[in-house]
Amino acid sequence: MTGPSDNLSISFELFPPKTDAGITRLGDSVARLSAANPEYFSVTYGAGGTTRDRTARVVDMVRNRTGRPVAHHLTCVGATRAEIDRQIEGLWEKGIRQIVALRGDLPDGERVPEDGYRDASELVAALRRVGDFDISVAAYPEVHPEASSADADLDHLKRKLDNGAARAITQYAFDTDTILRFVDRARAAGIEAPIVPGIMPVANFASLKRFSEGCGASMPDWMCQMFDGLDDAPETRAMVATGVAAEQCRRLIEAGLTEFHFYTLNQPKVSLAVCRTLGLTPDIPAENAA
Ligand code: FAD
Repeated sequence: MTGPSDNLSISFELFPPKTDAGITRLGDSVARLSAANPEYFSVTYGAGGTTRDRTARVVDMVRNRTGRPVAHHLTCVGATRAEIDRQIEGLWEKGIRQIVALRGDLPDGERVPEDGYRDASELVAALRRVGDFDISVAAYPEVHPEASSADADLDHLKRKLDNGAARAITQYAFDTDTILRFVDRARAAGIEAPIVPGIMPVANFASLKRFSEGCGASMPDWMCQMFDGLDDAPETRAMVATGVAAEQCRRLIEAGLTEFHFYTLNQPKVSLAVCRTLGLTPDIPAENAA
């Protein structure tokens, strides 16, 4: 029997917790996520290097705990070129070979240093100068808020790929047609690299809504309706979230996409349930009957 999982490839994004206890808890979560057979994990990095040590620690922990490849996110704003170059060399020496290369966002009022890398395309070129990293970059189906136009945004994505990135991972977009139109526009613009949709399984709807406003991801009315009144109903919320993300993946698979990057927010439950619907069958721990 063949199923939807046969040629699917998934990855799970994590963020570095602030405390030792959080990192220990994350260890248990990645062990569970690993059962879904992800291609790799990735660990985010605070813009300006705010999570530098914690990101490195979590990358090591996930590698040791799962034996799977781990991509290290790296942002370049807020540091000088010399600092970033030293850091890249350090990552290469440590055996890190997968990087998600990002510009990042500076806090309001701060400026990129005169001698800093100004955008992710420059960071990709800097990584390439040090070694043959496997590099992913960010793409924006709803257009990055700072882009002068949708075409300029695509030109910039192309620059990042031409400088040596292997694939683009998209910002999440809840309207699946928006993702499909973006992939079509990218192909029409001559972008041939894999475009991997970022899938956001909703955990906390209220905070996701606030976050989405900041990063230019729109929240469709139907989503607001579905999650309305569920702030204090985590079980129902998780079921609805699973349905929404599973339906999005199903439509993307129907359109021929086979790679997905899950923004897990360090919470494995919904991502694992979605994997089940895709035909991936990770072990799910026993639950109390409802
Ligand atoms: P860039 O692609 O360099 O620039 C963003 C946009 O600005 C471009 O899309 C383009 O429209 C415009 N632009 C920039 N430079 C030029 C230029 N020279 N000419 C024309 N237009 C230009 N943030 C973190 O802090 N840590 C993370 O770990 C992290 N991980 C992420 C992972 C993914 C998959 C995604 C999608 C985002 C992530 N982000 C992360 C958020 C990201 O840092 C922000 O979206 C940031 O605003 C832009 O970063 P970028 O790498 O897309 O920048």
